Amino acid sequence: MVRLRARLARSQSTLGRGLLELLSRDRLDDETWDEIEETLITADVGVGPTRAMVEELRTRVKVLGSRTPEEARALLKEELLTQIGADMDRTLHVKPHGERPAVVLVVGVNGTGKTTTTGKLARVLIGDGNKVVLGAADTFRAAAADQLQTWGDRVGAQVVRGPEGGDPASVAFDAVAEGTEEKADVVIIDTAGRLHTKTGLMDELGKVKRVVEKRATVDEVLLVLDATTGQNGMRQAQVFAEVVNITGIALTKLDGTAKGGIIISVQRELGVPVKLVGLGEGPDDLAPFDPEVFVDALLG
Ligand code: GDP
Repeated sequence: MVRLRARLARSQSTLGRGLLELLSRDRLDDETWDEIEETLITADVGVGPTRAMVEELRTRVKVLGSRTPEEARALLKEELLTQIGADMDRTLHVKPHGERPAVVLVVGVNGTGKTTTTGKLARVLIGDGNKVVLGAADTFRAAAADQLQTWGDRVGAQVVRGPEGGDPASVAFDAVAEGTEEKADVVIIDTAGRLHTKTGLMDELGKVKRVVEKRATVDEVLLVLDATTGQNGMRQAQVFAEVVNITGIALTKLDGTAKGGIIISVQRELGVPVKLVGLGEGPDDLAPFDPEVFVDALLG
């Protein structure tokens, strides 16, 4: 958690500090409200959520009248926590079902950090005492299975892979079968993220899910989203949300130039909680998403 605060604080606090400065002004005229709106949009909060937030802040400032900087901070913190959905359930469902392992499907566009997140998640789960099997269901890219294998070796997880160009669903099936056989607690399946056509994607992911469900229950479908891609990433995320039932979001690359507002945008627009955040490329750079820590980091 300390790391989450430190890493975020470095790149993100401009949003919070900018807002705080604006909101602490004695007179909040229309121009200042425009500036607040602009700050939110620029930080990837998204148009809809920005409007809702500005409206709420306007009402509350009117009621409050003049504000001390502390009051402005408290007001902003409360509003950000509301927008971030502080009370959303962010539990990661990774408990095995008797003899059967829990299954996590990792989906998202190529390059967002799917394989890295799969490896890092395995590391966290293994650290918690779980036995983990990884499934390399991205059979389209030669390097993808190798990359997952490297992660498996690094964190101590067995990797099930198929022939290059093989059927992703069959690899997923084999991974679950192996996980069951080996009495694993969790099977994590790294899928292909080719956004060719919506029907193609739907067929592919739908088949992977159906086939896995012959042997197990899919407990989590984690959508990996690259925070640095902003509203573009949002649109891709929407396509995935239309084809599979996403249960949680792993927002990667928050350590870089990403703007924190994407967290508000993605949750509001998809109605799915951010459960994990990626804070770097290393094996320990994955953290559960904690709204309170995040907002404190934003506000500096
Ligand atoms: P995939 O194609 O979706 O499986 O993406 P990869 O897992 O191969 O990741 C693409 C690139 O993003 C790699 O260079 C990763 O090291 C990098 N990456 C993934 N997650 C993070 C993160 O949280 N922070 C940073 N800085 N880089 C990341």
